[in-house]
Amino acid sequence: MDTELSVGRPLVGHDWAVAHLIDVATPDPGPAWSRLRHAYLLTGARHIGRSTLAGQLAGALLCREPTGTACGVCADCTSFAGGNHPDFLLVDPTTTDGEPDRDGGVLRAEQADAVLHFTVMKPFQSRFRVVLIRELQRATPAFANHLLKTFEEPPAAALLLATATNTSAILPTLVSRCQTLKLRPSSRDTLRTALQTRWGAEPERADLLSRLAQGRMGWAVLQLEDARMWQRRDRNRALATDLAASSIPERLARADALAVRSSPAQLQEQVDFWLWWWRDVWLIQHDLADGCVNVDCEDELESLAARVRATDVTAFLQRLERAIQQMRANVNGRLVMTSLMIHMPMAA
Ligand SMILES: [Zn+2]
Repeated sequence: MDTELSVGRPLVGHDWAVAHLIDVATPDPGPAWSRLRHAYLLTGARHIGRSTLAGQLAGALLCREPTGTACGVCADCTSFAGGNHPDFLLVDPTTTDGEPDRDGGVLRAEQADAVLHFTVMKPFQSRFRVVLIRELQRATPAFANHLLKTFEEPPAAALLLATATNTSAILPTLVSRCQTLKLRPSSRDTLRTALQTRWGAEPERADLLSRLAQGRMGWAVLQLEDARMWQRRDRNRALATDLAASSIPERLARADALAVRSSPAQLQEQVDFWLWWWRDVWLIQHDLADGCVNVDCEDELESLAARVRATDVTAFLQRLERAIQQMRANVNGRLVMTSLMIHMPMAA
């Protein structure tokens, strides 16, 4: 599901970005779209809504009756929603076998060549040729260099859209050629209300997901739609409880096993889970339980909070923060895991 663009998925929040993109996609009284830049970069956490928003802009510009948004019923809108519009190209990072993989793959030189070929051709049926490149932070130097010229002087009808988690790993000359829109996490209330009213979630589930989602609507919706995501959280939860009661050698063996079978993205997800888990333990130890996110695990968290030293938890939270930074900077996952296992608070 993640390798396609879900056209028409409702976008929650990011009102300023939506309004801005509707404005630039609205035709001027004259012939040109004078406010439209030729390249946009949408940044923010995974599942925050970057692709959905980029899809809305692409749809609005491919639509036969452009009014700033897509009409949803014309032939162009229909073929775009069906994933076969001839003037739209979606480019995702791929594995060495060419399989799309947004977490573990990279953007390769041959994909940049495909973008070049696509953009030099005149539109077949719309006014624009639109390319959406996802996870631009995963571009190889060859990909970025091949595309630099296109970003600099794109053909008149070409519109380049890109998403990225952040701009720090992207060639600065590429970033400077785009208008960057930075999407921020949505509020817990926004998420909770949308989960109930638009996705029909039960109030209790909506409340839990809105706490866990850290402002990422797409993440919360994934949990509702894909049971495997929820099972993964259950496993993470069980592992966190187990590890707190394990000896250092047992933990190191687990760290090795985890590092071997997990992708970098899965290790990051694991560390992310620990951060929120141990933050909840810390909150309970400081009589701030109202701020907890894992509200369905109250008993486990309270028991843990009673059996670990508060100073150890504080120090471990700092280590987790650092570990997240290190993993973003591609520090070896096994090293990071090993260090975390040694310093994880030990339950008495
Ligand atoms: Zn249309």
